[in-house]
This record gives sequence, C-alpha cells and structure tokens, in this order.
Amino acid sequence: MQMREFGSTGAKVSPLGFGSMRLPTREGTQADANTPFSDIDVEGSVAMIRHAIDSGINYVDTAYNYLGGNSEKIVGIALQDGYREKTFLATKSPAWLYKSEEDFDRYLAEQMDRLQTDHIDMYLIHSLNGGSWKRTLRNKALDALKRAQEDGRITYAGFSFHDDYELFEEILNAYDWDFCQIQLNYCDTEHQAGIKGMKKAAEKGMGVVVMEPLRGGFLVDVPPAVQQVFDSAPVKHSNVEWAFDFLWDMPEISCVLTGPTNPEVLKEDIALAKQSHPHMMSDEEKQVLEKAAQAYHESAPIPCTGCNYCVEYCPQKLTIPYNLLAYNLRFIYDDLEMARDYYHNEVPKFGKQADLCTGCGTCEEICPQHIKISEWMPKVCELLD
Ligand code: SF4
Ligand code: SF4
Repeated sequence: MQMREFGSTGAKVSPLGFGSMRLPTREGTQADANTPFSDIDVEGSVAMIRHAIDSGINYVDTAYNYLGGNSEKIVGIALQDGYREKTFLATKSPAWLYKSEEDFDRYLAEQMDRLQTDHIDMYLIHSLNGGSWKRTLRNKALDALKRAQEDGRITYAGFSFHDDYELFEEILNAYDWDFCQIQLNYCDTEHQAGIKGMKKAAEKGMGVVVMEPLRGGFLVDVPPAVQQVFDSAPVKHSNVEWAFDFLWDMPEISCVLTGPTNPEVLKEDIALAKQSHPHMMSDEEKQVLEKAAQAYHESAPIPCTGCNYCVEYCPQKLTIPYNLLAYNLRFIYDDLEMARDYYHNEVPKFGKQADLCTGCGTCEEICPQHIKISEWMPKVCELLD
C-alpha cells in the first residue's frame, strides 16, 4: 500500500483509515448510540480492525461519542497484543459538551482509559461548527490542547469540521494545527470546507483526513440516474471505486476513512486502497464524476448522510436518519409505494417514526449537515404516513 504524507508532520499514513463509527451488532445490523455493549459484535469488530492493520492500514479513527462510547472501548481492545504500536490512533474530543475549562482534560483522561493507552497520536476537537467553536474558545480548550501536546498526551492536534468555508478558515488560523478532518466526496465538493478548504489546509502543511467518502453509503447503492451515468461511461469501475478514486487522485489528501460494517466490505476497500496513488484519474473519468454528482443532487432532496449523530439527542427516540431516508427513497427511485413500504415496515425496526416528532429542534444542534429535521418530519408524515 502506497503510504501518504500526513501534511508536513513527517508521519506517513495509509490512504485508507479504519473508521469505527459503524460497527456491527451480533444480529448483523449496524450498532448505534443506543446499542448496549453486550449487543455489539465485539469479536467481529476486533477481528476487522486487526485485519485492517495486518493488511497495511495504520490509521484507526474513533470518537468519544461513537456508539455511545462503546466504539472507543472496542478500539482499545483491538489495539492490544501489539497492535497499538503499529497504529496511529485517532480520537476526538466532544466540543459540544464542553461546559468548563476542566472538561477537555477530563474527557481526554476518560478516552485514554477507554482506549487503554497513555497517549493519543491524532487528537481532534470534534465536529466544529459555529456553536461548538464558541464553546471551544469559551472553555479555553485550545490552551488545554497545547498543554496536552507539550506533555505528550497528544502527538498531533487537529479538528473535524461541519460548517461553512468562512468558519473553516477562521479555525485554520486560530491554532498551529497538524491536521484536519473534513467531509468530501464527489457529490460534496463545494459543501462545508469543500475542495477549497482541503487545498487551503494542505497549503498550510496540514494533513487532510476525509470522512464520508461514500456519503454514508449512499454512493454505493446510487440512484438509478447516477447508475445510468456510470453504466454509460467508457471506463468501468465499481461505484465504490469511483468514489474512493476521486479522493485518492488528490495528492493533498492524506487518508480517507472507511466505516465498514462487515469484513467483505473492508476487504474490497483495502484492495482498492492498494491500487491507489495520487493523480490516478484521467480527465475523462473526472467528467464522468461531475455528471454523476449532478444526477445525484437532482435525485435526493434531503442531504442526510446517516451519521446517526442526532439519534441520541432526540427525546422521542426517533430513528431520524431512517425516517429521512424513507422520504428520500420516494424521489431517488421515483417510487411512492416503495418509500411507504420502507417507512411502515423497515423504519420501526430501528426506532420510532416521524409522527412522534414534537418539533423541539434539539437534534438540529448536532446535525453536521444543518438539516432542518423538525421541518422535514411533518413532511415525512404527510407523504408516507
Ligand atoms: S425535532 Fe423531532 S426528531 Fe428532532 S429531537 Fe425533537 S422530537 Fe426528535
Ligand atoms: S439528520 Fe443529520 S445528524 Fe442525523 S443522521 Fe442525518 S446527517 Fe446525521
């Protein structure tokens, strides 16, 4: 696997990183923030993480809040038996929870305990947006971050980001960051930090880690209109290959995160990563992706990536992303019956339906895509209930 520069830090990372946000349950479904530890397929998850490392992946990513804290525990288990030494361990501090100047250190200590380590290689202030950035500054988390770097609890300091470009640039200039993590895929080139932000960070010598390369899985089973673009292209790739190659083509990108829910998906992603290198796409291939992006945007009205961040904040226990997906299905596949069937038969398997939404808006504070969930839920009911 061709390793890539992590900005100007001197570290070299694999083009693919293992993201631990979507681990499997014992029943074969996808765990979320409400899944008890005992229901997660811990052995299977540990085996996947170790297989990734044995195959050349040296970047493992988790966060304080992933799977309600269980993701860090499982990564901590996976990195025993010599795997910690082979890995750059990345985790993230929950900026939206900061309430005092002590919180940064308190969360970091708790995370090192869960991860069974005395230092974090890549530590990020998580999910910065207008609100969490203010909390970060108000609670002097950047001073605490500096102290943690100086005393060796953290090696490289970064942030993950979900807001507009102007705030991204403000944050870039507010600290001597080593890296950032941004959302980027062939459909979201001008969204949030976008390509412009990626290049700006690279110019400053920062490593760039990319999340949501498959837009929460929606670039795997693409809408028919997008599939038609790929099927009629003169060059043939799998849908996943199109999405990853778009990112690996850019030399400024250090590492692309994948969040596999089963070993087969992981093996496919690793095989693609092994063939990857900068400048790997032709102009003809790039034009195909531009057409695919245009077709995608014309198909799905709600830009939900299925990240699940919102779920634990809903007092009504709504399975928000599945409700939104049901609505999108109507337009993506131009099939109202299919969407109604999904809403009535699939959504309840994961949690409560849209009719229980009170419109409180709590979930919107955490949504990285700034989706007006409280406004969409009545529309979901109206269309599908
Ligand atoms: S607006 Fe609706 S979906 Fe969002 S937290 Fe409130 S009840 Fe839950
Ligand atoms: S609504 Fe927002 S926070 Fe919730 S799953 Fe979708 S993108 Fe994530």
